Formats: sequence, structure tokens, C-alpha cells
Amino acid sequence: MGRCKSFEFLTFEFVSDFDIRISDFKKDMGYFRQNIEKAKAYQPGFQPRQTDVLKLNTNENPYPPSPAVMKVLTEFDAEKLRRYPDPIGNEFRQAAAKLHSLSPDHILCCNGGDGLLTIAFRAFCDRDRPVAYPVPTYSLYPVLANLQNCRAIEVPFDSQFNLPPKLTSTGAGLTIVCNPNAPTATFIDTAELASLAGELEAILLIDEAYVDFAEADCISLVNDFDNVIILRSMSKGYGLAGLRFGYAIASPSLIEGLLKIKDSYNVNALAVALATAAIKDQKYFKENVETIKKQRKKLTGQLRALNFEVPESRTNFLLAKCKNGKAADIYEKLVQRNIYVRYFDLPALSDKLRITVGTGQQNDKLVSALKEIL
Ligand SMILES: *Cc1c(COP(=O)(O)O)cnc(C)c1O
Repeated sequence: MGRCKSFEFLTFEFVSDFDIRISDFKKDMGYFRQNIEKAKAYQPGFQPRQTDVLKLNTNENPYPPSPAVMKVLTEFDAEKLRRYPDPIGNEFRQAAAKLHSLSPDHILCCNGGDGLLTIAFRAFCDRDRPVAYPVPTYSLYPVLANLQNCRAIEVPFDSQFNLPPKLTSTGAGLTIVCNPNAPTATFIDTAELASLAGELEAILLIDEAYVDFAEADCISLVNDFDNVIILRSMSKGYGLAGLRFGYAIASPSLIEGLLKIKDSYNVNALAVALATAAIKDQKYFKENVETIKKQRKKLTGQLRALNFEVPESRTNFLLAKCKNGKAADIYEKLVQRNIYVRYFDLPALSDKLRITVGTGQQNDKLVSALKEIL
């Protein structure tokens, strides 16, 4: 490797023929890194092109975002699109900090909650630092582990989906607990997660994408533990899945470290403005969430009456067990009627359907279709 000084302040390195020959790249191994070659892409829920379908498969909010969001959208100044955005989305950070009674340096804006997960894997995982999480859970975690080339330690839940005690002794660099969990819709108490945070030496990320529909959350842990990161999403409770906005809540020193990893402009100007308008309108948010909780209760009763086993949900979806085990069959028959729910062909899930709670009308349509099918 030679060094060439060309300009006053600039040095650059040039590569000799010899350096090129010792590279271990072999074209017959494929262009992609080995872990990418063998990786499977994340399978998102089906997004049908037609609009005349009933879509209860990806846990979107059935109601539109706050009118305050639509107002900011229609009045948005094009000048703000010409310029680069604020790299850290301070406007949103301040609004979120106020809501959670923290300071803005506890908040990191992200391109969806998924954007935070990517940042966390890059920050805390590699060949020597595995990730650990209870299963079944969000199917994006193993995909990200594979991309990062780290081992994924999957610790099974028991049949009641209690926190597995073995999580404390995996030695992982990153432990993720999705709470409330998807796709089980179950919830683990804050006190239990506090004790897990205390026992773990490395990072505990609590994925609270669905917490807006639960009765408690883990934000208080951020003040008590310097190894806890909370993930929040604007996709579910705020009805902004198309906007791609989420955020992290953690100690300022963790946020500072994560800032080094994020893309320089990971949240765009329009997204910051609209997400800020949404989080400031807590009145609309709370009414929306209450409506969905009421519909959730009603739909749970209707499905139980149809002989599905439906545990109490702490999210905006239900995991319904078909007692005859024919979940795949019911799924197909719903598709024939243009109704989409989610079916996972996985050991603990193949007898169950995950159903997003829709509007009252949508849920009734689903229930009538199920009555016909069964
Ligand atoms: C929806 C979801 C997220 C984040 O989704 P974004 O749309 O990227 O904000 C994270 N975790 C779980 C379990 C989810 O369901």
C-alpha cells in the first residue's frame, strides 16, 4: 500500500497490483457476502393492489391519522423539501420528550421502528455478540441477525407466553423482548422486565410497537437502567404506517452512541413535521385507541362464540386458535372472499390466525364470513 500526498490537506492511498492479488474475493462464490447469499428476505404481510378488499393482515390502524396531520401536510412549505432536513429531527424529539416527561436527548428519531432495529443490530451484534429473544415473536429479528452475521439465540416461551428465565444467561450483546408481543398479543409486566434489565449485562431492547393498546409500558426503566432501549412506532397507534416513523427512548449516553450509526438524514423533513403533529394531538390519539380497544373486546367475544380460542389481547390484533386446527384452510377461504388475515406456517402458530382489529363494520364483515365458512 503506497501513500501519495497530492493536495495540501488531502492524502489518499493507492493500491498496487500486489494488493489486488491478495484480496480473497472469488467470483465463483457469488457477488454477495456469504450470509447474504443464504439469507431469506423478510416476508411482509401481503399488500393487495385492489382496494375492494378487507385488509386485516398487517395491524394497520383502521382509522385515518389525526386531522392535525392532514393540515400540516396540505400547508407544507416546498422550501423545506429543497433543503436537507434537520439530521436529528429536533422538532419531534422535543414533542416526544414532553409527552414522556424526559429530555430530548433521551429520544432518537428513526425511519420506522424497523429503522431502529437495524441500528441496534449494527450497534450491538456481530460474530462474537449474538442477539437473543423469546419466540414466537416478530419475524424481522432473525432476518436482521442474518444480515449482521450474528448468531440468533431463540428461547421458546412456555405455553402461557411467560418471560423465559433462560434469557438472563445467553451472554447476548442484545436481548430483545417484544412487549406486547407479536403475534401472541400477550403482555409481560413492567416489574419483570425491570428485573431482566437488572440481571442482563448487555443491552435490553423492549419493542413497544403495540404498547399504545396496552395498560402499561416500560418507559420508567430508562431512568433506572442505562442498558435499556425502548422502541416506539407511529405505524400502529397513530395510523401512520405509510409515513415510516418510529423512535428510540434510552439514556442520553446510549442515544449518543446510536446517533453515530444512523444514516445522516434518516428521517425526512415531511415525516418529522407530520409525526410531530400526530404525537402532539394526544386527544385524537387516545380516542382512536379507546375505539379500537372497544372493537377488540367485541371481536374477541364474537370469535369465542364461534369456538375460536382467543386469549386477552393487549394489542390491536387477536391471535385466534382454530380448535379444529384448520387455520390454513380458513385463511384460504377468507382470501376467496377478499378478506386478508395473517397465517404463519410455523410450529407454534400453524393452528392460529392473526387478525387485525378493524372498524366495527369491518369486524362484522369478517365474522359473517367466518360464520359462512365454519
Ligand atoms: C410494526 C412493528 C414494528 C415497527 O414497525 P414500523 O412500521 O417500522 O414502525 C416493530 N416491531 C413490531 C413487533 C411490529 O409489529
